[in-house]
Amino acid sequence: MARDYYALLGVAQNATDQEIKRAYRKLARELHPDINPDPAAQEKFREVSSAYEVLTDPEKRRIVDLGGDPLESGGGMGGGFNGAGFGGLGDVFEAFFGGMSGSGGQRKPRGRVQPGADSLLRTRLSLQECAVGVTKHLTVDTAVLCDLCQGAGTNNNSQPVRCETCGGAGEVQTVQRSFLGQVMTSRPCPTCRGAGETIPDPCRKCGGDGRVRSRREVAAPIPAGVASGMRVRLAAQGEVGPGGGPAGDLYIEIVEQPHDTFVRDSDDLHCTIRVPMVDAALGSTVVIDTILDGPVELTIPAGTQPGEVSVLRGHGMPKLRANSRGDLIAHLDIVIPTKLDGKQTELMRKYKGLRPNERTEVLSTQSEHNSGLFARLRASFSGR
Ligand SMILES: [Zn+2]
Ligand SMILES: [Zn+2]
Repeated sequence: MARDYYALLGVAQNATDQEIKRAYRKLARELHPDINPDPAAQEKFREVSSAYEVLTDPEKRRIVDLGGDPLESGGGMGGGFNGAGFGGLGDVFEAFFGGMSGSGGQRKPRGRVQPGADSLLRTRLSLQECAVGVTKHLTVDTAVLCDLCQGAGTNNNSQPVRCETCGGAGEVQTVQRSFLGQVMTSRPCPTCRGAGETIPDPCRKCGGDGRVRSRREVAAPIPAGVASGMRVRLAAQGEVGPGGGPAGDLYIEIVEQPHDTFVRDSDDLHCTIRVPMVDAALGSTVVIDTILDGPVELTIPAGTQPGEVSVLRGHGMPKLRANSRGDLIAHLDIVIPTKLDGKQTELMRKYKGLRPNERTEVLSTQSEHNSGLFARLRASFSGR
């Protein structure tokens, strides 16, 4: 049975928003519970408030004009004024205090059914797994729908009832005196915790929350190229909301484990190659066990200098969701022998005798060798 919301406010069916607002303020000044303690007035105020809420909402007003009742159809909670209550509080405030609060202050009970929270799970991946991509099977401890009440929170299909403390508004108001005059403050209703309704006969399994904690397995597809701190989103795999509300998302955060050989810098991989002095002078080769391409031979050219790098293009990490790869950068660490036996010392002296022009000396800053040294120093400060 549709209520006559226009009659409740005493306005014509073609009333403007301004006229509806004016009529509501006038009634609120007589009926607001802070002014009029009469229970009949409170009930009337609730009706007037819901009429105001309906008629200032274009969608709901359209339903009324088509002969329907927007507050009847939604909840199926057995009539009443669910979802309306003290809806137009912002305007009551305005009516009392001359428009201080503006018109954006409409409040509604937040309802018992709420969207669920997102969850976050961290998972450790080897560099190999980050490079190849992997499906991780993870155990999540999360809130799932209560299978006994299917999220309703009620026992044996009993119904929630309007909260008696707040009258369904979800919040309670108190008027305090201050040097500015009366100030109205509101806070979430302590009985229903803002929901506007309570469950007198709650589900025995979930206690009325509509959800229970449970462990479950998820298979998380991790794409190739992920790195520490990146998150993979699994839609609707998070916590089910209070009252069986829609589940939040589950985020899997990658924690990359250090690798024995490679240090990662974005899509590039760095490694250090130990090159004995003689190998640097004569040239050599080394086999690097790469992440994605197996063993790759690296040539160390004759005359390699300390601190030089050798770049293997395209042998680094795959770029996330792209068909290209970073580089593998080998830092060549030339090692001078520290202990020479008699025969080795003799050989070195012979070698020195063959290069009479090489001697230890202080260099000019302009010398070619020196500028090379400084360039390498700069590179080593900025590069690694
Ligand atoms: Zn309440
Ligand atoms: Zn339950």
